[in-house]
Amino acid sequence: MSNQPSAQNTTLVLFHNDLRVADNATLSKAVSLSSNGQLLLVYAPSLTDDLYKKDNRQAYCYDMMGHARQRFLSESLTALDASLMQLGNRLLYLQDNLATSDTFTQLNELIQQQHVTDICVSQTADYDQNQVYKRLQAQNPQVCWHVQATATLFDKLPLDDLPKSFTAFRKKIESNYDLLQAKEDIVICPTLKSLPPMPETLQNSREYFFAVPTFDEPIFDELPRQLPDFKGGEPNGVEHLEAYFDSDAPSIYKTTRNALDDWTHSTKFSAWLANGSLSVNVVLNRLRRYERDIVANDSTYWIWFELLWREYFYWYAAAHQQKLFWFKGIAQHSPSTQFNQKRLVQWKNCTTPYPIVNACMHQLKNTGYMSNRGRQLVASCFIHELGLDWRYGATYFEQHLIDYDVASNWGNWQYLAGVGADPRGCRQFNLNKQAQQYDPNGGFIRKWQGEV
Ligand SMILES: Cc1cc2nc3c(=O)[nH]c(=O)nc-3n(C[C@H](O)[C@H](O)[C@H](O)COP(=O)(O)OP(=O)(O)OC[C@H]3O[C@@H](n4cnc5c(N)ncnc54)[C@H](O)[C@@H]3O)c2cc1C
Repeated sequence: MSNQPSAQNTTLVLFHNDLRVADNATLSKAVSLSSNGQLLLVYAPSLTDDLYKKDNRQAYCYDMMGHARQRFLSESLTALDASLMQLGNRLLYLQDNLATSDTFTQLNELIQQQHVTDICVSQTADYDQNQVYKRLQAQNPQVCWHVQATATLFDKLPLDDLPKSFTAFRKKIESNYDLLQAKEDIVICPTLKSLPPMPETLQNSREYFFAVPTFDEPIFDELPRQLPDFKGGEPNGVEHLEAYFDSDAPSIYKTTRNALDDWTHSTKFSAWLANGSLSVNVVLNRLRRYERDIVANDSTYWIWFELLWREYFYWYAAAHQQKLFWFKGIAQHSPSTQFNQKRLVQWKNCTTPYPIVNACMHQLKNTGYMSNRGRQLVASCFIHELGLDWRYGATYFEQHLIDYDVASNWGNWQYLAGVGADPRGCRQFNLNKQAQQYDPNGGFIRKWQGEV
């Protein structure tokens, strides 16, 4: 991939999980390439659908996005479009319209019709998305590609090899590149003041402009619907980041992070981090400022520790590629679990014999969020008590989680299924004990109607 700007540039940014303007190296690169040219800013959903159909991943019941995830994404795109408009351009949104053509074909046509010279994308560990990039490159060999890191603390794996366990990874990072302790803040991209215009021929093509889609609103029982503070988009993410660090919550994070249901008990950064509305560099700089100005203790260290888990799974997904989706994962043998329709439906419909699991699953279905503890419990139940093929569980999470991230989701599921990065093999939680420990008065189970 070349980094040389072409003479007469028409540059296209293909947004993926980098839905922000601040500290977005991909956008900054595109602006530098197109300073005398034109800039197309595109979001194309469903680009990977064909790939899903081709390998048999659709077999494990991949379905439309859950309503909460759809809403969060739509809010994120609305906010991105508003920010781009303020800078003098707009977000072009390719509709997946079966009557005409799929989004991949539309994107390809756009590249050709507009004589795109350069394409800028963010580096991703998403195997399917990378396959799409490869296909686009093959079909447009005249275009220069530019790839920037926007999702991770490190631009590339900062070690020679990826260690087999998170602990080994963390220890190496902390002894070689401890960004939490570093003297200087992480350098972030300068704030953009304006953007080059889009091509004139597109300026009135309303069919391309992003418009908030309508949703099929689900009909709920009397359960709470949405955690009120999960509003998608960069400004909301930044506001949440500031509110979190303006509170005392970071100083007690380690003692509260395992709670099942409270807004301030964990950072709740994941959804904005996952679709890139928040930059992880900005989050880490803010954490460092908190440590400098307020307090540095075990809890603030633990926020860094968890961000390192995210980093680890990113490089894990990048290293293992399609093995992330294999039943046997990166292990030598497949687990002894299997598909079972009846038990899968029980789990999804919140009617297992385990109230704590049902409550967590109701929470996920209704809000798009579940605590880390909840995720561990429902996954453990899925694999051990129900004996199910873990990939169906991972796919259900993919459909519903507003913070869905291919690396963190599939990496964590593999870990719990004993086919991933866990040196201790499979982990089974005692669900009754866990319920007593994390919901001693049964308030969570009552709120989320866990008793069948
Ligand atoms: C089966 C399973 C599936 C998961 N799927 C996802 C997913 O699709 N997307 C996702 O972002 N996280 C996933 N996680 C990790 C974790 O549960 C969430 O990141 C966390 O609950 C989000 O809430 P928070 O932002 O308040 O986290 P906090 O506890 O405040 O942690 C701070 C940040 O660290 C990162 N982080 C924390 N724990 C993990 C972890 N175990 N793995 C990777 N990153 C972590 C997240 O970016 C999080 O925002 C999954 C965990 C399990 C067990």
